[in-house]
Amino acid sequence: MQKNWVLVLSVWFLCTSYVFSTDKSVKLEVSSASTGLVSPYLISSMSLASEETYHADAGQLFTSIKITSADTLSNHIYLTLEDKTYYFGTLMTDENIDIPPSFIIPLSPSRYFQLRTKKPTTIKIELFYAPRIEIQATVNKNKKELCEKPNTIPSSQWRKGLPDPKLGRVTSEVNHCIIHHSAGNTADTNYTNIIRNIYLLHTESNGWDDIGYNYVVAGNGQIYNGRDPQGAGDEDNIQGAHFCAKNSGTMGICLLGNYEIDTPSTSLIQSVEKLLTWKLYKENLSARDSSIHPQNGSKYLATIGLHKDGCPTLCPGKNTTNLITDVRSNVQDKLDKCANIVSISEPLNSHYLKIYPNPSHGRFFVMSDDKANLTHYELISYKGESFGRVSLAKNGMIRLNAAAGLYTLALWSNNSLIFREKIIIQ
Ligand SMILES: [Zn+2]
Repeated sequence: MQKNWVLVLSVWFLCTSYVFSTDKSVKLEVSSASTGLVSPYLISSMSLASEETYHADAGQLFTSIKITSADTLSNHIYLTLEDKTYYFGTLMTDENIDIPPSFIIPLSPSRYFQLRTKKPTTIKIELFYAPRIEIQATVNKNKKELCEKPNTIPSSQWRKGLPDPKLGRVTSEVNHCIIHHSAGNTADTNYTNIIRNIYLLHTESNGWDDIGYNYVVAGNGQIYNGRDPQGAGDEDNIQGAHFCAKNSGTMGICLLGNYEIDTPSTSLIQSVEKLLTWKLYKENLSARDSSIHPQNGSKYLATIGLHKDGCPTLCPGKNTTNLITDVRSNVQDKLDKCANIVSISEPLNSHYLKIYPNPSHGRFFVMSDDKANLTHYELISYKGESFGRVSLAKNGMIRLNAAAGLYTLALWSNNSLIFREKIIIQ
């Protein structure tokens, strides 16, 4: 018994003295060969004893840092950078999907940082260096027509001085626009700097060909092009890397900032709506529709969807989620104006309605509940030209003599538009 007490006391003494003994300077050993130049990507590892403070010297400047613990189930790591301490104490579920919580962009280039852990662990340290550049951006007032493409900053401009993206682009027909957030510091307005660091994270750390998103939208409303199309097609149809390996048929838009905590600015949301309006108009999609995403387990996914609708993540944050119904509604209003639909007196798609068969050869039925009280239909071409309103027969059958193609069928109850759906005439 006495021996045990001695042991306990010794362990207590050792542990306590350990806690108070504790400051270590560490010069990182990085894997890449030293060229005398500042490298855009350095990787290193370190073993941390518990409750010791490590003052680390990266040996060169870095503009962002990512920490990964070997013990991902229970890491308790404190990173101090520019007198600000970040704590990584939870599971990193977003790892390799998007932007991990332990990816930090300090406000100015740094060389030194501090680390401490509650439990002994080995960590991987990745350092990124994207020298700052200034872009003479035409501030995006977007005074263009409702459904025209808003102004964007080309990727060749913001990527200046960084390694080129890899070659090999794939295009796909977009049916879903997926909204993300960067989860970083919303107050940081060095937007070009942030996107440059995300580019290095995606290409160097994740090993992707290019930045994962098709577009990145900053808090001031400025829109940056994302993935470089490299001549394979339109940039909005280039398959990205942002939707947990289900990227086909999607266009990814990333909102810079952490919208689990903060609220997206009006300028940001307006730019996102303009981008979505242009894209949905181009693809003849409805902002309130949903359709099956072939890689999403036969589940319906909204045309304007959220990252978390298809993947295990909080992205794009609860404050973006709270706004999404309004975003869909505002985009649809603009689309309706572009398609010359002016009168909407009640929410679309609130009734049971089905068009069968679709596709058809121009002969099909409209089935509806009685409350819908349909009186007219209107065929609208892909370009938004209306063929006029026609009385709907009592039995709901429609015969059209239109050329083969994609149309919108609008259904009216007297002067109220109550339903709109894409139809295909073969
Ligand atoms: Zn995301």
